[in-house]
Parts: sequence; structure tokens; C-alpha cells
Amino acid sequence: MATPSAGPTTARGPGLPASLTPAFLRHLTAQVSAAPNAARVTTTAPYTGAPLADLPVSTPADVEDAFARARVAQQAWAATPLAQRKRILLRYHDLVLARQDQALDLMQAENGKTRRDAFLEVVDIGIVSRYYARNAARYLGPKRRRGAIPLLTHTTELRHPKGVVTVISPWNYPLSMAAGDTIAALMAGNAVVQKPDTQTALTALWSMDLMYEAGLPKDVWQMVIGRGGSIGGALMDDADYMMFTGSTATGRRIASDAGKRLIGASLELGGKNPMIVLDDADIDKAADGAVAACFPSAGQLCVSVERLYVAESLHDEFVAAFVARTEKLKIGAAYDYSADVGSLTTPAQLKTVTEHVDDAVAKGATVLAGGRARPDLGPLFYEPTILTDVTPEMTLHSQETFGPVVSVYPYRDVDDAIRLANATAYGLNGSVWSRNGARGRAVAARVRAGTVNVNEAFAAAWGSIDAPMGGMGDSGLGRRHGAEGILKYTEPQTIAHQRIQGFHPPAGISPATWAALLTTALKVLKTAGLR
Ligand code: NAD
Repeated sequence: MATPSAGPTTARGPGLPASLTPAFLRHLTAQVSAAPNAARVTTTAPYTGAPLADLPVSTPADVEDAFARARVAQQAWAATPLAQRKRILLRYHDLVLARQDQALDLMQAENGKTRRDAFLEVVDIGIVSRYYARNAARYLGPKRRRGAIPLLTHTTELRHPKGVVTVISPWNYPLSMAAGDTIAALMAGNAVVQKPDTQTALTALWSMDLMYEAGLPKDVWQMVIGRGGSIGGALMDDADYMMFTGSTATGRRIASDAGKRLIGASLELGGKNPMIVLDDADIDKAADGAVAACFPSAGQLCVSVERLYVAESLHDEFVAAFVARTEKLKIGAAYDYSADVGSLTTPAQLKTVTEHVDDAVAKGATVLAGGRARPDLGPLFYEPTILTDVTPEMTLHSQETFGPVVSVYPYRDVDDAIRLANATAYGLNGSVWSRNGARGRAVAARVRAGTVNVNEAFAAAWGSIDAPMGGMGDSGLGRRHGAEGILKYTEPQTIAHQRIQGFHPPAGISPATWAALLTTALKVLKTAGLR
């Protein structure tokens, strides 16, 4: 199956790229909000298991200090004209593109993903920063609304920033997850206190560093490092809004705590995403699509596909094409574009993937491709894996693996495919393949998921930044991107100015006459077609 990368992989894996000098890493880690004598934590590089970064650990008191500074800075930031915020964000956009090699090196070193997977994060942040820079005024500016009494009530909707937003982000997309949701929060006039996953904190710090270089005023964005069990409480206690991305289990806890505090929360959680290959699909394109859907970032992608439903009439031919492509993938560690599939990120991920596959095989699943770890390539590599004969008693049938593992199932007809695709508590992303676009879109609309792609794996919906992205059911609450992705960080306020005459009877008119007049007015308004 998978062959080692043509890149500079050795049995012990590549050393760190030249851009990641000790001085540069110290420059980044010095930006963590933590006391000078803070305890330290060391992260390791997934490609090799060698030590990578030595980071200060923030205490709950450090988090409180970060909030206090952020709260002061936010006042001035909220008063900064949107045009100035826009200039900063567009400069940040340019810096991210210009310095992308640094970001790619950091993401690969911290996460173990391939360079092409890391590059998609650069693209993502380019799109998100341009979009919110150019569209924020449209979303945030004052809006005239229909008044209570036509012509007599002047009503305006204002959008105020929430204040200080907590952003908690995971390790799987170090740049997208660290910056994507923060950009919109900042643009809306909030300050942000962020806790990235420690494993990928360097990329998050790099992103924050560039935003300051682009002109963000001091203290508006702060980064704290630590375990959820240690500083999670402080991050919730001071927040005016909680933006969380991570597992469903942690998301439930965050939602419950946010409920106790009566603050809003946006929760982007796990998935067990289905792909449906309809009986009129182009098999070659669908097989290419399946590879793109299942194995990016070694399957550690919330919107990647772990369940693949194929029309019976195409099943065998599709599976042969999918397996052949998967076996050709180059798996390996390389700080260039030569590898197709990278490493898992943590020993915990390798354990989960191994346990899920072993459990399935022990209960009768058939391995069509992959199915084993590759310690010869690095400590955390696992082959892209295709399984069939998967049954409900196997753990990976319904639980998220978050690895390069997909189960393929045949289905009888479209109703059967929809029933199978929707037989999950999750509802994050889906993918439908058909030669007939209208048919594909009609089937997509029946998949219970926040985003569904037709003839694409996930990038079409994710990259459609003007439209909302997020999960149904156990996959979350709230949305990122589009209007929802920025308005959630604001408090709407309605200012209604009543001119000349209000709802009370004017002097000299009895309440009964006034009631009759208003009743007639309501009838006229309806007849006139007023909405
Ligand atoms: P996780 O919930 O364990 O951790 C995510 C983040 O939350 C980390 O920064 C972690 O330190 C922090 N955290 C953990 N416990 C906390 C607590 N009690 N209080 C505050 N913070 C806490 O998730 P994970 O396993 O590291 O990430 C993978 C999961 O994230 C997968 O389920 C994946 O599907 C999901 N994910 C979803 C999206 C999305 O957009 N829907 C994107 C990426 C990842």
C-alpha cells in the first residue's frame, strides 16, 4: 500500500525546517499571557516525537489579568472606525500570504499534516479575512427598520460588540481554527482572549503576532495556554461570549456553563459525515472525491467523510477505483509538497484510530486498504484505511474516529441512502455525487447536516464564506461564516423614536374611539398589503 514520501523523510523523520529557529520560537512563546515565572510545557513534533516548543502555562489568575487588559483595550477598539479595522485586517491578509512559508512550517511541525493540507488553511484565512474586512460594514452598520406606526416611528437597529469574547480552538487546523473565528470577533469590535490547544499554540501565536504587526492595538487579542481543566473555568467566568470548537463532549459542558452564566455560545463540534454516491455518478470523479473527502490532514478534519454510501449498481466498480487511488497515495513526513498523506498529531489519536480499526476487524469488518500504523515513517503515521462489512456493534460504525478511516456501504435506492446517511446523532457535513446537478442538490437538501457539498468533498461549502457553516444535532449550535459568523459577536439594539403621535389616545379622544380608530387603521394596513 502507501509508499514513503519522495521528500526528505528518513527512518527518524525530518528535522525542523530552517525557518523555525530557537529565537523565532522564543519570540512566539513570549507572547503568551502568563506570569514571568510560569510553569512550562513542552510540545513534541508529530513527525519525529522530538521536543518542539517550550511554552509558558497560564494560570486562572493569568486568564483574569488577560481579561482585565482586554476589557480596557476593547473600549478604544470598539470606538475605532470600521474603515480602520478593515485596513488592519487587509494588511493581516497580505502578511499571511507573504509569510505563508513560516505558517506552513509551523503547522506541519505542530500538527504533522502535509504541506498541501496546511496550505488550504492559508487559503482559508485569506478568504475569511478579505470577506470580513470587505463586508463587516454591511453587517454592522445601523439599519433602518419598519417602525411600529408607519411614518410616525423612526426605528433603527444597531449592533454593539459583545465585549470580550473567549475563543477556544482545537489542534487539527492550527491556523484556520485559531484565526478564522477570531477575525470576525475582532472585526465586530470585540477583544478576544483565546486558548488554542497547547499542541498547536505556535501557529496561533504566529497569527496573533501578524495581526499586531498589521496594526491591531495592544491587548485587543490575548493568548493563554493551559489545560481546559485548569483555566477553562476562568475562560468562561469572564467571557461575554464563548466561541468553542472541539469535541461534542467538551461542547456540552461549555454549553451548560454558558447557560448558567446566560451568555451566548457558538459550538462547532464533531461529525460522522456521510458521502452518497448516486447511481448516475461519474465513478472516476467520485473516487477522486472520496480520497479528497476521507484523508486530508490524516482524517483529522471535522468535515471529512467517515461513512460512504454507494449505489448497489456502482458499488464494486467504485470500490475498486477508490482502493486503487488510495493505495497510490504517498504517505510520509516532508516539509514540501511531495506527500499526499501526513501523520496523526498525538499518541491519543493514534490510539483511537488503532482501537477503532482493530475493534471493527475483530467483529468481522474487511480491510480493503490500509489498516495499520506505519512506525517506519514516524511514530504517529497510520495508513489511509478503507473498510467494508461494517456493522452497528462496531465502535466506528457510529462514533467519530477522527482519523484516516472510512467505511463503505452499498445502498438500494435514494430513500435508503438518505435513511442511512441521517442515522446519526451528528449533522455537520455531507457530500453527494451525481452527474445531474439538480438531482444532486435535491438529495443534498435531504441530508440532515449544516453543510452538504455536491460533487465536492467539503471545500465547496466551507469555502463559500458568504453562507453559514456549522452543525446540526450533536455537531453543534450556531454558525461561523456569512452574516451569522459576525452578528453572533454583537448585541442587537433597537432604537425607536416616536414622532408626533404614539399609541396613547391624543387629548380629547376617548379610549373607546381611539381603539376603534386603531382597529380601522390595522384593517387598512392589511388591505394595503403592508408586511
Ligand atoms: P477537545 O474538546 O478535547 O478540545 C478542544 C479545545 O478545547 C482544546 O483547546 C482543549 O484544550 C479545550 N478544552 C478541553 N476541555 C476543556 C474545558 N473543560 N474547558 C475549556 N476548554 C477545554 O477536542 P479535540 O478532541 O482536541 O478536537 C477534536 C474534535 O474537535 C473532534 O471531535 C472534531 O470533530 C472537532 N472539531 C470540530 C470542528 C468544527 O468546525 N465543527 C472543527 C475542528 C474540530
